[in-house]
Amino acid sequence: MKLFRIDQEEWNRFLESLRNDMEVCQISEREHPFKEKLLPPKETLFYYRKDTPKQKEILNTKKRLFVGLSPCDAKTKQLLDLNFLSEPYPDPYYKALRDNTWVITKACQDFEPYCFCDQIGDSPAKLNGADGILYDLGESYHLLLDNEMLIQKLEEFGKSGESIENEDSSYEKGKIPSRNLAPLPIEPLKKNLLSQINNQELWEQIESTCLSCGACTFLCPACYCFDIQDTSYGRAGKRERIYDSCMFKSYTAEASGHNPRPTGKERWRQRLLHKFSYYPTLYGEIGCTGCGRCIKACPSKIDIREAIKHAAKYCG
Ligand code: SF4
Ligand code: SF4
Repeated sequence: MKLFRIDQEEWNRFLESLRNDMEVCQISEREHPFKEKLLPPKETLFYYRKDTPKQKEILNTKKRLFVGLSPCDAKTKQLLDLNFLSEPYPDPYYKALRDNTWVITKACQDFEPYCFCDQIGDSPAKLNGADGILYDLGESYHLLLDNEMLIQKLEEFGKSGESIENEDSSYEKGKIPSRNLAPLPIEPLKKNLLSQINNQELWEQIESTCLSCGACTFLCPACYCFDIQDTSYGRAGKRERIYDSCMFKSYTAEASGHNPRPTGKERWRQRLLHKFSYYPTLYGEIGCTGCGRCIKACPSKIDIREAIKHAAKYCG
């Protein structure tokens, strides 16, 4: 891990120099989650012909560097890795994209109205598994790199960095926002939410105004429900992976007509359990980065922070 001091003009020239080796994308908007770069909304997996067992698989290995996204979005990679790279069936399409993607975030200087990473034990200035993070010092940046390839490129560019032990070492980070908000009660959910699976009152109150539109899940950087669709053109065709949502009634509809999650109550139950019970149990991490996109996008103004607080009342 190395820390570099770099001014804005040098930084721009460095990015320009990288364009010979990879696509460099600057991200400044936060409407869309970074997951779209690793798990595209619509992705062709392979082409096939019915008269041959050979498929033309599409593994996207284009090298890409994304710069400027927020630290919470870098966590997307960590959370999706847990699901898509876990043995015994790592996902080759996700892996190809992910192994050729590097991320340098920019520490946030302000909280947006809906974000709450600081209330779930995170920070707007953490590395969160990114390959680097920029701290804005005004005319220049401190750039902390945690990736050998990028460190080597920057040294070849002519910069020398200082080796540091970890991201918590003492160095200038510019303006890092802080506020005095109580942490959200995540621990009781991790421990006891599953025991409340049949508590009708709990789930009814949370979902009472939900329209099952799925906007929250499509924009959530940690949600990854998908559907597989084949499109045939005569004797040939293609297989695609497209986003789906556990908030849709059709998501769990079975061919028999039975649906184990027939109402919004069961679907909201699944959403909270997946994020705050199943994910921590399976992987030790909650399935939420605190980005707040689901709150901003919800047409019914349902706020996951309130859902967490409400559920915690039942979890002891
Ligand atoms: S649940 Fe909401 S706040 Fe949490 S990561 Fe998903 S969109 Fe962001
Ligand atoms: S965005 Fe709001 S209304 Fe739409 S499914 Fe999510 S919680 Fe329900």
